[in-house]
Amino acid sequence: MAATLLADASIRLENALQHVNISDDAIERLKYPKTSLMVSIPVRMDNGSLKIFRGYRVRYDDTRGPGKGGVRYHPNVSLDEVQSLAFWMTFKCALLDLPFGGAKGGITVDPKALSKAELERLSRGYIEAIADSIGPDTDILAPDVYTNAMIMGWMMDHYSIIYRKIVPGVVTGKPLSMGGSQGRETATATGAFHVINTICEKLGRIPEKTTVAVQGFGNAGAEIAQQLANSGYRVVAVSDSRGGIYAEQGLDIPSIRHYKQENRGIQAVYCEKTLCNIVEHKVISNEELLMLDVDILVPAALENQITADNAEQVKAKLIFEVANGPISSDADQILERKNIVVVPDILTNAGGVTVSHFEWVQNRNGFYWTVAEVNQKLKEKMITATENVWQIYSSKNISMRTAAYVQALNRLGDALDAKGTRNYFVGK
Ligand code: NAD
Repeated sequence: MAATLLADASIRLENALQHVNISDDAIERLKYPKTSLMVSIPVRMDNGSLKIFRGYRVRYDDTRGPGKGGVRYHPNVSLDEVQSLAFWMTFKCALLDLPFGGAKGGITVDPKALSKAELERLSRGYIEAIADSIGPDTDILAPDVYTNAMIMGWMMDHYSIIYRKIVPGVVTGKPLSMGGSQGRETATATGAFHVINTICEKLGRIPEKTTVAVQGFGNAGAEIAQQLANSGYRVVAVSDSRGGIYAEQGLDIPSIRHYKQENRGIQAVYCEKTLCNIVEHKVISNEELLMLDVDILVPAALENQITADNAEQVKAKLIFEVANGPISSDADQILERKNIVVVPDILTNAGGVTVSHFEWVQNRNGFYWTVAEVNQKLKEKMITATENVWQIYSSKNISMRTAAYVQALNRLGDALDAKGTRNYFVGK
């Protein structure tokens, strides 16, 4: 792995550059984030003490439109992580042909250690600190790991208080009652489902004969496990941060979701409840889940889960990256050598930002779509993007990841050059 997450992410850019014809100026511009903001957020804790949290907002590129990207609450959030996530957003939005650049934000915090009131004060403090650099035409926020619709609602409300007007378009993934979009909560998984289905069809895979393991059982992971199981795929393993379970005949995903909502870890689901006797299962570690001999592996937790240290042991035939950056660049090479097809994050998980775009459009128009309309538009977008990537992948004989970057780079290069790269001054 490269020295930083951003350097590792940039290796993907280097790989794709050999297959595109864009100007050197455009390439140079894409190597650096446009703005990186680091803020201190003072929060009055419930016990009366003052605690200062570190927050970030990075706008990587906004050539194709305002910055767009989620806000992550996690103890490991760092400037490097936020920059690399903003880099991915830039390419994801270009790949889906959305009128957005790429951005990302985060706070270094363990949100589970805060009360709800502390979490609200922290979220409002974050907006207070970054308000000058965000806005519906500048940079638009959304949920990411350990943030949700409730937190997005607080953020939109606070931005509206600062600017003394209602500004729903500054944040997507809001509650429906505050201008959120139908279908946003499930959009990432629904988008991933269309990508998986389209590619499986191309490969002649039948859902009923396809086994799946899903790492991470949060917003994205639990929903994709559910949608795949509903469509006949055999989901044999799932895990969360505390560990996982495996059942060869397939897991009962709705029951697992139900018990997980009651704050039980995944391992407890089968053993503490009656299902224990019905479904024969094995408790497995997260590491074991990644090594299972399944047809499809879906990492849907955090970055760098498959690295040079464990890639040799991966046995899945296909990997769909629902998480952002779950595979390091050196692991990419090992998986490629083993003929494991990796469908990259910037395609697989782009359903979330696609419906975020729909939400932003609806906010600007003040006219709201039905869930059927949202899901139909999402399906069209995801299948078109998958077909485009597949076409480049099969015609150029390159990895699916490189193909996705080629498509995104062509769009970014066109936009950067169209804006003028100051060729005039160098006499071209
Ligand atoms: P989430 O916080 O809802 O869920 C994360 C899940 O991962 C939790 O179940 C947690 O227990 C589990 N987890 C954490 N560490 C783990 C580990 N080491 N092994 C196994 N499981 C672990 O987050 P989310 O919104 O579902 O996001 C998951 C991933 O998907 C992230 O990489 C995120 O950037 C990406 N993503 C999410 C969205 C979205 O709309 N939610 C959109 C695009 C990309």
